[in-house]
Amino acid sequence: MTMTTLHDPQLWFTITEPAPGVFALAELQQDDQVRSYLVAGSERAVLIDTGTGIADIRAVAEQLTNRPISVITSHSHWDHIGGNWQFEEIAIHPLEAPYLDEPSNTLSLREAATPEHLLGPLPTGVDREKLEIRPSTPTSLLHGGEVIDLGGVELEVLHLPGHSPGLLAFLDRQRSILISTDVVYPGPLYAFGEDANLPDYLRSLERLADLAPTLRLILPAHDSDRLDPRLIPVMRDAMAAVIDGRAPEQVDAEKGTHVFDGFEIYAPVAVAS
Ligand SMILES: [Zn+2]
Ligand SMILES: [Zn+2]
Repeated sequence: MTMTTLHDPQLWFTITEPAPGVFALAELQQDDQVRSYLVAGSERAVLIDTGTGIADIRAVAEQLTNRPISVITSHSHWDHIGGNWQFEEIAIHPLEAPYLDEPSNTLSLREAATPEHLLGPLPTGVDREKLEIRPSTPTSLLHGGEVIDLGGVELEVLHLPGHSPGLLAFLDRQRSILISTDVVYPGPLYAFGEDANLPDYLRSLERLADLAPTLRLILPAHDSDRLDPRLIPVMRDAMAAVIDGRAPEQVDAEKGTHVFDGFEIYAPVAVAS
């Protein structure tokens, strides 16, 4: 396979292979810069999240592996489920499952595809007004604790709520790789809004901080290709400080922004104690 044989969706996705059989499919031309991950074993492959749906992620994934591909949805936010409808098998945490058919997802997508949110053109033939996030139906549920065997590659499912109630991340213990989804990434951590919960988020960061010294590679869903494991205990302590009433550096109508070295936390303006 060479990049020159690949057609249009490829121009939208920036594809890297941070570990053998682990592909990052990054949508760098939209300012959420979401990253979905394809992990292939000798028997099968999983696509962890399906991005915005602006381009054909299935076509791209199928050019990267010839193993059967099923989808695991880390959580139900619109920027992680856009291509779900293209796949037959979708696994998700039960607390996120009811939201895969929210009509508001399409509105969020269209807003995110306006010129001020784009760093480059939409793919050829894609009309912003016709973009939609089609409903999808989960075919299996993950609660956390499961180990998914792909053939020579095992992914452990971690339930790490806080950003959203059923948020999942994925650990390849053998290779010390964490696919950290929206739990941790080197940018603003969204801990405000209807589905966020600060104490849950802190507990999830505590779990990851315990794991951090063993991790070699952390692959996040936003803001960068990598997260330095040493940042996780710092994030844990920062979240604890926010819960303890730390004053935000900036406040707007919906959130307080807490600024730290290498990341921020978006928290409710009044943190309930
Ligand atoms: Zn999210
Ligand atoms: Zn996200």
